[in-house]
Order: sequence, then C-alpha cells, then structure tokens
Amino acid sequence: MILSKLDAAKYPFTSLAAKIVEKLETELGVDSILSPNSEVLRRSIERIREAIYSGVTSIYMKDLDVEVLSHPLSLFLVKAVNNPKLLNVYAEAEKNRVFVNIINEDVNKIALLANDGFNWHVKVEKERIFLRFDEYLKVSVNMMDSYWKLVNRKLEEGYVEVTKRDLCRLIAEAYRGKIIEVVMRSKENIHGGLNAVIEELSKEVKAILPPTKIQESVALNEYNPSALPPCILKLMSEADEGKNLPHMARFTLATFLISIGKRPEEVIDIFRRLPDFDENKTLYHLRHIAGEIGSRTKYMPPSCATLRTFNLCPSSDEICLKIRHPLSYYNYKLRLLRKK
Ligand code: SF4
Repeated sequence: MILSKLDAAKYPFTSLAAKIVEKLETELGVDSILSPNSEVLRRSIERIREAIYSGVTSIYMKDLDVEVLSHPLSLFLVKAVNNPKLLNVYAEAEKNRVFVNIINEDVNKIALLANDGFNWHVKVEKERIFLRFDEYLKVSVNMMDSYWKLVNRKLEEGYVEVTKRDLCRLIAEAYRGKIIEVVMRSKENIHGGLNAVIEELSKEVKAILPPTKIQESVALNEYNPSALPPCILKLMSEADEGKNLPHMARFTLATFLISIGKRPEEVIDIFRRLPDFDENKTLYHLRHIAGEIGSRTKYMPPSCATLRTFNLCPSSDEICLKIRHPLSYYNYKLRLLRKK
C-alpha cells in the first residue's frame, strides 16, 4: 500500500509528509513561504485559529501542498506565540483531527500509518489487531481512564490486543505527544518578517486562552431573551441574516449562550443560516466549547474589553456602563426584570 499526498496532508507524522515538506521548502524557498502574502502562512494561522476556537483543525483540500507545509509552520508559530496554554490546545486539536480521519481508514492502512509514523509494530491477524507491549505502554501512559490499564488488556507473546478504535486513539495520542515534544525542543528563531503576524496572533490567543472555568455566580441556567446584552443581540441578528460571522463572533455567541444554560443541541439552530453551516462540525465545536468533549473545559465568553478590540461591541447602553463582561450584563438585567 502506498501513501498519497492526501494522506500526507491528513497525517503530518508520516515520513511522506516530511519528504514533501523538505522538497517544497527547497523548491519554494523559506522567504517565499514566510512572505506576508503567502498562502502557507495564511493557512498556518487559520489552523491555529481553528484549534483555539473549535478544538479541532480541518484539512485544507484546495491545495494539499499548502496544507502539508502549514504543519511545520503552525508549530513554529505556536512556539513563537509562547502562550503556555496554546501548545496543549493546539496539540489536542490536531489529535482530534487525526482521530476523525483515521477512524474511517481500512485497518491495514491504519497499521501502515502506525508503523511508518511512529515505528510501531502492529500486527493484523484476521479480525484481530495487536500492538507491541512496550509501544502500547509508552503511548497509553498518559491516558488516565482505567480502560487503558494493562491489567485490563489481553497480552499475547509480548503484544497487546487492541480494537481498531483503540489503535486510532493511540495513534492520535502519539501524534499529540509528538507535537508537544517537537515544539518544546525547537529553538525560537523568529524570522523578522513574522514579527507583526506573531504579535497579532499572540493578542488573539491571549484573548481566548486560558479558558477560564465558568464561575458559579455567572452560570445562570436561565434563558431570558429580554436580558441579552446588545453585543449578543446583534450577533444573533447577523447570524439570522446569514452573515458570514468571523471566528471571534461565533465563539462569543456560542460561549455566551452555553454559559446561560443553553444546550449545544439548542445553540446549533442559531448557526443554521450561516453560509458555511455544517451540522456535524458545528455540533462538535459547540460540544467542545461546552466542555462535553475534548479537553473537558467549559469556555467562557470574552470580556467587553476583548469584544471592543474585535469590534464586536456595538454600543453601550446604561447597563453596559456599569459592567465589564456580557455575562454580568445578563445577570444584572435578569435581576432588574425579576424586580418588575
Ligand atoms: S459593553 Fe459589553 S455587554 Fe455591552 S454591548 Fe459592549 S460587549 Fe456587550
């Protein structure tokens, strides 16, 4: 079985992906890849944004060369941004991307990817799959669930029996670990032309991360449209008109509505009219934001100051002058409405 360029784009840990990167870097030259108008640079930034806003990165199918090259550049940018939370969030999002793709592959191809990418010894015998004991142990050590404990596994002649899904999870986890290792080990050597990009990206990442857990006092679990702040009302109306809302606007809307007690399955309806709406992807992102999947962290909406920076604060009514967070606005107005 031979891997294709699409495989290299989907699975950046393969030797083919490394070869393509090397070839393209030589052909295009570093200056061209890092130039302000570079498609690779644009896609690398987008990949990081997907990670921080959605918890999973996508595959840029329009140009697979760009996609393959965006992997090392994204890692370089993650290093340069130097935000303690970003590396974990990025690695987790890439892990999710690998898992959702690899789970649909044929088992022999999955074994090939494991052998090629991580030098593992995977055996497929009829309906059964085995991974060498020491390799299983090394990658599963960070998986806390007792499901992964060796005592709960069948061992045969130095090999651990795994299901197809297990093997996919283990590969995705190994990829996550590899990203962390590569970024930690790499030396910061910032290309002068990237300073502005890194500064801009750092600001955006700082506005979203670290994800702060919702405090009990603002976890209201009561939905009253009359108490919604102007920024959220405006975003809801724009979503209803089918406008193509930027990442930050979608993130704000989703985190706000989930914070006041809406379920992801309810919030999804707000996004239905968006031009790029995809039911499965949107629900996945909403469930990630709600802390139901992925890092299990419930994300909080950005503060008023952040929303102003992103031009998402339409105006200030009287309540806006008293508060610094859209959830505080909602809380305050709910109390006022209850008194009436
Ligand atoms: S001041 Fe805050 S709550 Fe009011 S509209 Fe602006 S961002 Fe929203």
